[in-house]
Amino acid sequence: MTNTRVTSLVDQLTLQEKAELVSGKNFWFTQAIDRLGLQKIMMTDGPSGLRKQADSADALGLNRSVQAVNFPASALTASSFNRPMLEKLGEHLGNAARANQVSVLLGPGINIKRSPLAGRNFEYFSEDPLVAGELGTAYVQGVQSQGVGVSVKHFAANNRENQRFTASSNMDERTLREIYLAAFERIVKQAQPATLMCSYNAINHSLNSQNKRLLTDILRDEWNFKGLVMSDWGAVADHTAALKAGLDLEMPGKGQASVDEIVTAVEQGQLAEAQLDRSVERVLTMILDYALPADETVDYDLNEQHDFAKQMAEQSMVLLKNSDDILPLKPEEQVGIVGELAAKPRYQGGGSSHVNAFKVTTPLEVAQSDGLESGYAQGYSLDTTTVDTDLVNDALELAKSVDKVIFFAGVPEQDESEGYDKTTIELPANQNDLITKIAAVNPNIVVVLQNGSAVTMPWLAQVKGVLETYLAGEAVGEATWDVLDGTINPSGHLAETFPLRIEDTPSYETFNASREDENYREGLFVGYRYYDTKKLPVLFPFGYGLSYTTFSFHDLQVKEVAGHQVAVQLTVTNTGQRAGVATPQIYVANQTSQIEKPVKELRDFAKVALEAGESQTITRTLDQRAFSWFNPQTEAWESDTGTYEILVGTSVTDVVLRQALTLKWGSTTLQPVTENTYFSDVIRRRDLTAALEESGLDKLLATLNGSSENAQLLENIPLRSAVMLGADSQQVAQFIRLANR
Ligand code: BGC
Repeated sequence: MTNTRVTSLVDQLTLQEKAELVSGKNFWFTQAIDRLGLQKIMMTDGPSGLRKQADSADALGLNRSVQAVNFPASALTASSFNRPMLEKLGEHLGNAARANQVSVLLGPGINIKRSPLAGRNFEYFSEDPLVAGELGTAYVQGVQSQGVGVSVKHFAANNRENQRFTASSNMDERTLREIYLAAFERIVKQAQPATLMCSYNAINHSLNSQNKRLLTDILRDEWNFKGLVMSDWGAVADHTAALKAGLDLEMPGKGQASVDEIVTAVEQGQLAEAQLDRSVERVLTMILDYALPADETVDYDLNEQHDFAKQMAEQSMVLLKNSDDILPLKPEEQVGIVGELAAKPRYQGGGSSHVNAFKVTTPLEVAQSDGLESGYAQGYSLDTTTVDTDLVNDALELAKSVDKVIFFAGVPEQDESEGYDKTTIELPANQNDLITKIAAVNPNIVVVLQNGSAVTMPWLAQVKGVLETYLAGEAVGEATWDVLDGTINPSGHLAETFPLRIEDTPSYETFNASREDENYREGLFVGYRYYDTKKLPVLFPFGYGLSYTTFSFHDLQVKEVAGHQVAVQLTVTNTGQRAGVATPQIYVANQTSQIEKPVKELRDFAKVALEAGESQTITRTLDQRAFSWFNPQTEAWESDTGTYEILVGTSVTDVVLRQALTLKWGSTTLQPVTENTYFSDVIRRRDLTAALEESGLDKLLATLNGSSENAQLLENIPLRSAVMLGADSQQVAQFIRLANR
């Protein structure tokens, strides 16, 4: 239906109209063609709530937008590891979009958190592509179930904000495929998003908006993407080159200048009209698929969405420390609240995802209205890092007079936003200083953190509790207390590593080291793949999170099933006193030693809700991709024949179950035997036995193999040096001929 209509529309369009359609009409709308009855549609940010600007437009969240519920930022929602919850979030966002006549939602952002200094980490899910890809898929499916399209962004390798319009992300092919493209590939294949947004940066010096390999060869030819590619706002440098490379829609349009450029390019033969038509078809398909009836009434309840924002936040918050069971708070305890962030919480990030929130509940007002608070002290000012002695003294007086102190700490708004990167992962000095001082007068202190990405905690040993709430959305007040007082049993797990210090991070020397070139020298070793492989201690590992109950994982069974898949079964038991939710994480360790690789990689995860004492057996299926790596020589995903280990953990470092597995699906093609083939490889290959016998080399090997020392020497001698072992060169030449026959 849409197809026929699209073809007929393309036939009726003038060149001028086609050129108009491949640029946005303005900041948020596509072009309308009134004479053909083609309406315009609206696109709007963003990942954590609707930012529909009814009046003045901008891409940095500067001007006001209509009121909408502000859901938790992706840094927090990712910690839920909860696919159905992300899908529900998508449904709410789709509903909000539809009720506001928005056809395409600009999100989710799924870029990999390469450095904790990246300014936009709060808007992204994880340092791990499986987490980003799985949660992104659920989100996209949720939004699109409401008849609203998404734009998955920012495609690709957009991992820093400084000089984001021009910097080149330079990396090898395996790193690109296995880390930076993998989440996009998963979402494209699993959820068929309506659109993808190409990012500002370049990859290996080819600007993404003009990168044919990225936008056409990989995205369309390899992944079979059927949707539209739009530019990030202002990412197009050369519109003609961009269209030729596979970009369909320039956003926002540059007005008549954009149109003239394309018309001239076609008239002068620099751009084939057929190529322009392909992009016009995709723009028309998007408009026809997602145009909303102007008069539709949509059931849209902001209060219900606010409740969901609360649920999502409280089920994602991560309990990082709970010594002496300081949490949950008990009703009879006197609780003092310290920290300006309790009264002025940081609940969302700055930039294009910034929402005009419907109803913000602050932790302080919720505590006061629920009778949970026995005094409040501001403690520090968010506007400075300098210690204010009066504020400190007030806080210390309060701390001395109560049973427990809940200290609200975090990264001030001005230090973390889209548009620029951070310069430190430390909390402001006045906050760190006060936490230490309070701990000295009242050891029963719990720190509640509000931040967009990993921070250091120099006071960790002196406090009894830490609750990571990231940027929790507008229901931050209610959600935080629900976890603190035990109404909700926390079940969030970190989707990123918290390092001990910035110097330990894998990209420390290279991140923002040059204005032009961002060199991904750490390659595949991003996040836990680095710390885990190097056995470096961290503050909190990837996947970590505590609960008010305890779980045991047991009875692991691993077996190969049809279609190059592996079934992993285990039982989870709630061994504590209250209901809770466990998050078993399944990692694969590839021990085939054919390739350079991290010691283990996350390949699946599950959420298991259990009453006290209850057990549940779960089965997850890993497909061949979970055992594969990208071979740049063959440009294909390959898996090696050999041994693997399946590991189940509560975090990447706390592995509680493991089982070895031998797989024979090796897709690696046999290498031809040459003069440079090592004897060790010859011995391993059974298919070469006959050639060895015929050439007589088998006898030589049998003699040499007698002692273990000789066997080790053989490992590192190539055929061309066989004379060193007493073979003659003709014999070797004959063997090579026979081996390759
Ligand atoms: C951001 C995008 C956003 C767009 C529109 C850009 O600056 O990078 O994520 O969707 O603006 O606001």
